[in-house]
Amino acid sequence: MSAIIFSALFVIVPILSLGIFVLVFALIFSPKLRGKFMSKQIKAANYMLKDVQDDLTEMGAISGRINANTRKRILDQNEDVLKDVEIREANIEKEGIEIKTRAIKDGFKGDTMYCKHCGALIDEDSKFCKKCGKEQ
Ligand SMILES: [Zn+2]
Repeated sequence: MSAIIFSALFVIVPILSLGIFVLVFALIFSPKLRGKFMSKQIKAANYMLKDVQDDLTEMGAISGRINANTRKRILDQNEDVLKDVEIREANIEKEGIEIKTRAIKDGFKGDTMYCKHCGALIDEDSKFCKKCGKEQ
């Protein structure tokens, strides 16, 4: 009995191998067949997505809740520092706006520039600021 099964393997294995070989070549050279295979995979992925849609929605809700709670906790624990940072950033922005406003008022004179350190209007070729004395 086992001899029959053993000899049957000599028929089945080559047939299977040949079948796989033919299929691989067909897939390589036939875009149509590849398309059919891919469309089946896409359908399968679609079913999977529909299946896990509720889970994904729930995960998104949990993630959003964690995010909101984390932001609240950061604010609760660091309000003073965050306020300080906000004020300092606003002051930096204010300085920049003041420099730009002055530039507009001065009409963008070609031969002048603004000091990198104090924002004073100085000659374009000056190496040091005449107001704060720092190098340009
Ligand atoms: Zn200066």
